[in-house]
Amino acid sequence: MHRLWIILGFLSAVGLLSVGVWTYAYRQALSQLSEKAEADLELAADRLSTQMQVYQELAVLMADHPGLRTLEDASQKRAARLLLLDVADKTAAVNIMYLDRKGQVLAAAQPTPQPSLAKHPAFKRAMQGALGTAHGVMPNSDDRTYSYAAPSFGPFGEIEGVLMVVADVQDVEQTWRGSTEAVFFVDSDGIVFISNRSDLLFWQRSEGQPGLVPPNGGSVDFASIHVGVHEVWKLNWGRYLPNRALHLTLDLPVIDMTAEVLVDVAPARRLAILQAAAVAAICLAFGAFLFLATERRRALSEANAVLESRVAQRTRALTAANTALRHEVSERQEAEAALRQAQAELVQAGKLSALGKMSAGISHELNQPLMAIRQFADNGSAFLDRGNESRAGENLGRISEMAARMARIIKNLRAFARNESEPMGRVDLVQVLNTAVELTETRLRTDGVDYDWEPPTTPVWVWGGEVRLVQVFVNLITNAADAMEGSQNARVKITLHTDRRPRVSVRDTGPGIEDPDRMFEPFYTTKSVGSSEGMGLGLSISYGLVQSFGGDIRGRNTPEGAEFTVELDPYTKEKAA
Ligand code: ADP
Repeated sequence: MHRLWIILGFLSAVGLLSVGVWTYAYRQALSQLSEKAEADLELAADRLSTQMQVYQELAVLMADHPGLRTLEDASQKRAARLLLLDVADKTAAVNIMYLDRKGQVLAAAQPTPQPSLAKHPAFKRAMQGALGTAHGVMPNSDDRTYSYAAPSFGPFGEIEGVLMVVADVQDVEQTWRGSTEAVFFVDSDGIVFISNRSDLLFWQRSEGQPGLVPPNGGSVDFASIHVGVHEVWKLNWGRYLPNRALHLTLDLPVIDMTAEVLVDVAPARRLAILQAAAVAAICLAFGAFLFLATERRRALSEANAVLESRVAQRTRALTAANTALRHEVSERQEAEAALRQAQAELVQAGKLSALGKMSAGISHELNQPLMAIRQFADNGSAFLDRGNESRAGENLGRISEMAARMARIIKNLRAFARNESEPMGRVDLVQVLNTAVELTETRLRTDGVDYDWEPPTTPVWVWGGEVRLVQVFVNLITNAADAMEGSQNARVKITLHTDRRPRVSVRDTGPGIEDPDRMFEPFYTTKSVGSSEGMGLGLSISYGLVQSFGGDIRGRNTPEGAEFTVELDPYTKEKAA
């Protein structure tokens, strides 16, 4: 809507400008036309008056001709007539007459229809001593004539007669008929007497009216308008006259007429229209260019706005998603922390459960060296009594050995039961397996289980926590012992492979795993409440621990029994960093 108004406004502005340009250009062209027309008019008037002047001067000169002075007898009159005829032939005058003071024709080149010209205005004027002029139409024909009458003075200045020259206007007109502009001469009565357009002859000007009406008095199209200082006639007077014409006048007091010209203004109008059209075309082209440019800009900014709003929308959506994600992350972190806490608690519970299971074995294990220490002490004192000091010393040495063994067992137990999150780092897998075997040795021996463990001589460094790794292997060995309880040829084989990733397998000769898919689930147990009741936590805790070291734990059945494998990451400098 807004655009429509702008376009309409622009178009009307261009229209106004074009009208302005047209008016200005038209006036300019009219001014130029007017200058030319003025020159044409002057030229036409000059021509007419120059040609008429011939007859005027003829009248003046011939008036004093000696051949016309005395016209008493017939021979004198004949001589005078021949003279006048000769002059008339040479000057192309219609007639030349010599009149007496009463207006009677004394001599004439051509015979005259009326003998007295006393009432002729030119004669009357000449009788007053001045040069008389008159125009009129010949009575018997349509020929227009223009007459000059000059007085002929006697020796004392008195008027003796009048010489009258009658000229044919048509002869004069003939010489400028080819002239392009319509020129006409209007006499003091307002009648068109001379013109290069014969259609216009005898048209009349009514009193106070600018235009002309035909001689028969009929009405014709006419309007006079003023364009600036110029007067333009609108008319429809036949095909030899323009429809719109610039009208100029020039007063000619010498012949008592007004010269007028009508110049076609069509070229001026065409020029003005051309100029206005050029200006309008330039403006329209410029406007169209401007319009297209703004349209393009508008489309671009609209597209931009759409894009921006889309970006804003997307940003909002992303921000929302981000917040949601952060929320989820923090929830997850909380859940992980809770899980870790639960895991830690489970680990401790598993350890305590293992300790409970081992307590009988441990008390037996501690009791045995204690009994031996007692025996060695008794023996030692007996040897001392007998004065056998070397045997007594031997027994004291055995006592010391036993005490050291007990101290080692207690140290392992303490470390195993301690609930502290030890840092991860470099752990010797050989040492870990030694400790696990040591902690379960008594139990295995009590159950009559053979174990097969040959520790390598060099340490195998892996990534993990020592106490937790010990717990894993204690679990595996204890589970093997549990599975083989009461069976013949019970045997646990522990092997450490170092060919690729460090790997420990614990194989037994028990009945095998009942449900390999579920054994790692917490609280899954097949052990009935009784001597070796289970909590179903050992394997799930071991699984979690090995995973936390970046390792892997698997279990499968072999033809002899079950096999559990623990794979661990080797310790490297990069890993530590
Ligand atoms: P628990 O020992 O308290 O039952 P675990 O998680 O250590 O809990 O073991 C889960 C179950 O996996 C056991 O109850 C048993 O059925 C099975 N299992 C574990 N080790 C062995 C094995 N060496 N041979 C056969 N079955 C085993």
